[in-house]
Amino acid sequence: MSSPLRYQFPILQESANGHPLVWLDNAATTQKPRAVINAVSSYYENANANVHRATHALSAKATHQFEEAREKVRQFINAESASEIIWTRGATEALNLLAMSWGTTHLQEGDEILLSTMEHHANIVPWQQVAQQTGAVIKVIPLNDKGELDLGEFKNLLSRQTKILSVTHVSNALGTINPVKDMVAHARKMGAKTIIDGSQAVAHFPVDVRDINCDFYVFSGHKVYGPTGIGVLYGRHELLAEMPPWQTGGEMIERVSFSGTTFNRPPFRFEAGTPNIAGVIGMAAAIDFLMEQNRSSLMQHEQLLRVRLENGLDRIPGLHRIGTSSKKTAVVSFVVDGIHGQDIGTMLDKRGIAVRTGHHCAMPLMEALGLSGTVRASLGCYNSIDDVDQIVSALKEIVEELG
Ligand code: PLP
Repeated sequence: MSSPLRYQFPILQESANGHPLVWLDNAATTQKPRAVINAVSSYYENANANVHRATHALSAKATHQFEEAREKVRQFINAESASEIIWTRGATEALNLLAMSWGTTHLQEGDEILLSTMEHHANIVPWQQVAQQTGAVIKVIPLNDKGELDLGEFKNLLSRQTKILSVTHVSNALGTINPVKDMVAHARKMGAKTIIDGSQAVAHFPVDVRDINCDFYVFSGHKVYGPTGIGVLYGRHELLAEMPPWQTGGEMIERVSFSGTTFNRPPFRFEAGTPNIAGVIGMAAAIDFLMEQNRSSLMQHEQLLRVRLENGLDRIPGLHRIGTSSKKTAVVSFVVDGIHGQDIGTMLDKRGIAVRTGHHCAMPLMEALGLSGTVRASLGCYNSIDDVDQIVSALKEIVEELG
């Protein structure tokens, strides 16, 4: 049985290597519904102009759509004000912005940055750079056997020295959903600022930043059925208001003269240069698409598929699932005795099935698990029982052939 949503995604009507495409690499990027593709081309066809600058009609139209999209994101994550939504190129740029703006101005020698073992490199490397510049120290929350964060150790690691807690909402490699609301509450008691990387969360369940009570929340458009090259940094207004700009140039200023420059207010202070206007408009269409769905049915659908996939994989001899938390999105990582993940990925691809293999930009996690990589099947709203059954039967064949 195929998913009714599938027909809204033109690329899913294509074939790959002579087979109908089975897209199970949603944690890397999601496919785009017709509505997003149309919104992007309609911007170029009907509203192409720079935003916030000119007095002409097209600029007014583009600016209106651009700022309407900001309001849409505000509603999507329940931020208090649209001025708390900053456009970035993606989660990576948002985390770099935080590290370079907040981090370099607030961290000092001996301060601690608390990360977790399951972070994507995008939430590790910027902090390593800031730690080198400031003398701050990175501490790392370990995992338990199920691939969940060890919350006892988390509490032990928290102290008055902890200035930042920056953790992922959902692991991109394992799918584990972290109890970020609780973690934020503990960190705040110690006076730490809190950053949540929501890259793998927002497409799969509703997120409310005021309920989580975090200081910052980041995500990328392309993992939530929107375009590439656009992302979001949410920040509490009072924190953004006192943060210095990171990148500088046009748009982010109030007044420039050779005797000195004053900066614009947030969010514009953090949006130097011409933004990805088409990306912003496509992102708004992606949010509309998602909000038009019954989100709890979508969650149930993805969970049902995950359990079916896990049950199918558990019947394949020599296959071991990695990350067995019961609180997971539909991300299923596994290894097979004696068969390299890349060989599995290549043979699945020959059958039109796209998965990701390797370290998933989470090398410290792989090191902690004692693995060089995994095969990862990650599901999205348009996947179906058929997709799951196809990968399971393909894997049975591959393991018989190579095992
Ligand atoms: N954080 C997590 C958890 C991710 O899964 C990813 C992408 O895979 C990123 C950050 C980086 O996102 P982007 O490459 O879109 O900036």
